[in-house]
Amino acid sequence: MTTTVMGAAEILAGVLFGSIAFIAAGVDALSDTATSAGVFAGLTVSKRRADRGHPYGHRQAETLASMALAIVLALAGARIAFSAG
Ligand SMILES: [Zn+2]
Repeated sequence: MTTTVMGAAEILAGVLFGSIAFIAAGVDALSDTATSAGVFAGLTVSKRRADRGHPYGHRQAETLASMALAIVLALAGARIAFSAG
């Protein structure tokens, strides 16, 4: 939760002072929060038993969350690589 507030504050400061570095730092902080929330949501859903809508259970939710996390991390890495260059 703290990183969410930090991220929002950094983005706000970045916009106010016209600093790309601040905005980048803020986006990083917010994406950390988003990925953590995504992994937690995936794990929580995957623990559920099979139901009418999902007769084989919810194990795939964990796989989906992992895949989403991999994509987010790849994008974050690419962004850092481009901004460093
Ligand atoms: Zn279900």
